[in-house]
Formats: sequence, structure tokens, C-alpha cells
Amino acid sequence: MVEQALEANPDAKIVAFVHAETSTGALSDAEVIAKLARQHDCLTIVDAVTSLGGVPLLVDEWQLDAVYSGSQKCLSCVPGLSPLTFSQRAVDKIQSRKSRVQSWFLDQSLVLGYWSGEGKRSYHHTAPINSLYALHEALVLLMSEGLENAWQRHKDIHLELREGLEKLGIEFVVDEASRLPQLNAVHIPDGVDDALVRKTLLERYNLEIGAGLGSLAGKAWRIGLMGYAARSENVALCLKALETTLK
Ligand SMILES: *Cc1c(COP(=O)(O)O)cnc(C)c1O
Repeated sequence: MVEQALEANPDAKIVAFVHAETSTGALSDAEVIAKLARQHDCLTIVDAVTSLGGVPLLVDEWQLDAVYSGSQKCLSCVPGLSPLTFSQRAVDKIQSRKSRVQSWFLDQSLVLGYWSGEGKRSYHHTAPINSLYALHEALVLLMSEGLENAWQRHKDIHLELREGLEKLGIEFVVDEASRLPQLNAVHIPDGVDDALVRKTLLERYNLEIGAGLGSLAGKAWRIGLMGYAARSENVALCLKALETTLK
């Protein structure tokens, strides 16, 4: 579909997509999409908010151009920071702009100046120091676990949840090949009161699961297993709580 869209729109300059799609529980094939984009002379803008730390995200190998994430998902840090990275192609694009950026806060050309060190450094904003210390600590924890180990843990814990849900007769929305381990979108069994179940889980078990969005509203639940939360005891709690509540 991406290829067809690019062929139908030869003037396209950018392909923007979500890597770990948390509304639907699907994992995009970032490598293939980026390859198609390059074949059509497009840059990629990648929402990696929920993929960073949870699934492989090979920014350089896949040649992604502008990639942003969040501190509060699989990095299990406080919210407020958005780690981001640019390829040289993206930086060149920004620096060769002919018109000025019309806003202050999303003006990456100013931020590039802010980053470029002594002499060239111009004021852009006051850095949120406390958040940076928190992010540093979250990254130290991730590094001591090992990035590849963290990917594997998310996968293993997802499979644990899957096994238990299947025993309860609950099915996944997304085909196995594109399933996102850190966000499990599942069909609500027939005749079950969506809101009442979520309310009971929250009030009785202090466990919050996500409602379906858009066309999946009332039809699906979204069970997050991100970062520190991706552990066996949470899967056990979720399965037990769901089983009891559904009964
Ligand atoms: C959570 C999430 C966001 C939103 O992040 P905020 O920091 O809450 O704005 C964006 N994209 C994806 C894929 C997400 O999962």
C-alpha cells in the first residue's frame, strides 16, 4: 500500500509513519517502509514513541531520517522528554530551507544551533535538568539489562500473556506476524460489558487496561506491557483479574 501510494503521488517528499502503533497494537515494518521511501526520494519521519526499548529499532541500519520517541513508554522514565535523532539527509534538508520556520518551539534549525556547542550555541530554551537526570538513570538501567535482553523480555512477557489470554478464549486483533509485544490489542468477548470490566479491574485490582480507539471502541482492549511493567507478576495479575472479573 505504501508503494502504491508513492507511485500515485510522485510529488511526495516525506513518508511519515508510526513504528509501534499503540492504537491498534500493530508493529510496522520500518525497514521496508524506509526502503520504499528512499526508492521514491522521500525522507522518513518515524514515530518511535513506544518502540524505543521495547522492540528492535535500528535507526542507522534501516536508514531512518527523523525519529522521535518518548521517555515514558518502554524507557519507563518520567514523561516530558522526547529523545530524537536525525540522519545527515534530514539535517541537510533542514539547513537548506529557503523559508524561515514560522514557529519557535518546533524550529529544528534553532535547536541545531543550540546543540552545536561553544561559539555557535544560541539560546533556545532552558533545559529540563531534572528530567535529563531521570532519563540518564532510565538509560543506565536499560544498559545494564542490555538492549537486546530488553527486547527479548518484552517478547517473552507478551507470549506469556498470549498463552493465558488464549486459555480464557480471548483473541488478538492483529495477525501474529505484525503483533506489537508491548501493546496487546485483543477482542472483547461477546456479551461482555467493556467499561464495567475495565472499571472493576481498576477498582478491585488497581490494574488499568486501555479501551479500544476509533473503530475498535467498545470492541477491543489494549493491554500494555511496557518497560518496567513488562514482567511476569503483572501478566499473572492481569490474567487472574480478568478471569475472575469475566466470571
Ligand atoms: C504514547 C504514544 C504517543 C504519545 O505520546 P505523548 O508523550 O503522550 O504525546 C505517540 N505515539 C505513540 C505511538 C504512542 O504510543
